[in-house]
Amino acid sequence: TRPVVAIIGRPNVGKSTLVNRIIGRREAVVEDVPGVTRDRVAYDGDWSGRNFTLVDTGGWEIDATGIHLRVAEQAEVAVDLADAVLFVVDATVGATDDDEAVVKLLRRSGKPVILIANKVDDQRGEADAAALWNLGLGQPWPVSALHGRGTGDALDALLEVL
Ligand code: GDP
Ligand code: MG
Repeated sequence: TRPVVAIIGRPNVGKSTLVNRIIGRREAVVEDVPGVTRDRVAYDGDWSGRNFTLVDTGGWEIDATGIHLRVAEQAEVAVDLADAVLFVVDATVGATDDDEAVVKLLRRSGKPVILIANKVDDQRGEADAAALWNLGLGQPWPVSALHGRGTGDALDALLEVL
């Protein structure tokens, strides 16, 4: 059966953009405003001949109130269902309290996690990505979901834990 890969992270970090980048189509809804309800969450993905199901957790971002709790809740459901997790952080913002809450949950889960340092659109962003070593989740993979920079290396790392 196809392994399940959950994409989790705060609203607006680029989860849906990353889904579209991985599946090579623009099916996941990308929003400039966080917290829009979406109902489609599962996509067929593949990389280097390996198939997996990608779950975009954007569908649980119901509104902009109580984001802290909601992010933790939707992340918990997705992580329980998943064989591996792509945890997306906006490297240009850095780790927030919400991100730290998700890290605790990820640690408890014991699931393999690939830390995606997103919005690293060019070389200058690499330092922002490196700062995310502090989350204690291992290597942050600098990625630009928007332009495709670094996504191949991150997906190679994903395949190693699937
Ligand atoms: P989600 O809420 O986590 O699913 O985030 P979205 O995928 O909807 O993206 C939120 C915003 O961030 C949109 O305006 C995207 O165009 C933008 N975005 C996503 N990835 C990148 C990236 O790699 N670089 C830049 N500069 N912007 C990005
Ligand atoms: Mg989304």
